[in-house]
Amino acid sequence: SHRLIIVYNRPRLTESRRWFREINEMWSGQAMTLKVKKILHHEKSLYQDVLVFESTDYGNVLVLDNVIQCTERDEFSYQEMISHLALMSHPNPKKVLVIGGGDGGVLREVIKHECVEEAVLCDIDEAVIRVSKQYLPEMSKSYNDPKVRVHIGDGFKFLADYKNEFDVIITDSSDPDGPAESLFELPYFELLKGALREGGVISTQAENQWLHLSLIERLKKDCRKVFPVAEYAYTTIPTYPSGQIGFMICCKDPKRDVTKPLRRWTEDQEEKLCKYYNARIHEAAFILPTFARKQLAL
Ligand code: SAM
Repeated sequence: SHRLIIVYNRPRLTESRRWFREINEMWSGQAMTLKVKKILHHEKSLYQDVLVFESTDYGNVLVLDNVIQCTERDEFSYQEMISHLALMSHPNPKKVLVIGGGDGGVLREVIKHECVEEAVLCDIDEAVIRVSKQYLPEMSKSYNDPKVRVHIGDGFKFLADYKNEFDVIITDSSDPDGPAESLFELPYFELLKGALREGGVISTQAENQWLHLSLIERLKKDCRKVFPVAEYAYTTIPTYPSGQIGFMICCKDPKRDVTKPLRRWTEDQEEKLCKYYNARIHEAAFILPTFARKQLAL
């Protein structure tokens, strides 16, 4: 169902055709459009169409199956929030797993926590890691860190091999329409729970409340079948559909309140380490507008 609408920056093309349009049935009737300066890379990997282009105003952009995954200008909002909402809800995360996240941005955030001793990343597609190392240096710089270990393979299968292993697991997947489909279903959450140590926390990409409230409701119900604590939070980000993306934050410990940070950096550290996350926005991220709060009140 994917159609690549990228149009190359050839001189004889008209102005309107130098734009990348993110047309997709997952957000019907609307499409983010970014102006293209230069196509940097385009291939069909084993799993998906992989495109990197330089945009005029958002830096380099990674696109998988015609869906924007990250831009250099606004990626920090997503990477910081999906990571620190979970990591700050754990008293002492030592071993952390990232499923997906091939661009490396979540890893970069994970290793900002000094208590983390080992960060493992499992992405299905080596092509995403390879092109990110080449074209997204700020995101992929963490691949050089000695705490980091990389595994290429399906996250669902990888998890099945681990029991009581990780303190925090972050699922930074693409949307459910493609290789990430299984990462949005009940059996996956059961595997996550099994792979977590006692008191463990997960964070998972959980779509947009303007576009996918029924999907989020189903996700939250599934998470609640497995975890005693499951809460939806969101961040703002211009280049994701409708300018926001959400996360499901779940914990194995029924007494944990993930809506408030359990640990925090000093304000100085926050400003040095992060551009979006801080302890106040941690709490704010869980406060939903009435229409979403009502539908997600389980
Ligand atoms: N932040 C992005 C977003 O929400 O649009 C996601 C970025 S990230 C690059 C998504 C990654 O998930 C991709 O690198 C893709 O290869 C990976 N992925 C998709 N399905 C997967 C699976 N079943 N197991 C592991 N990784 C998977």
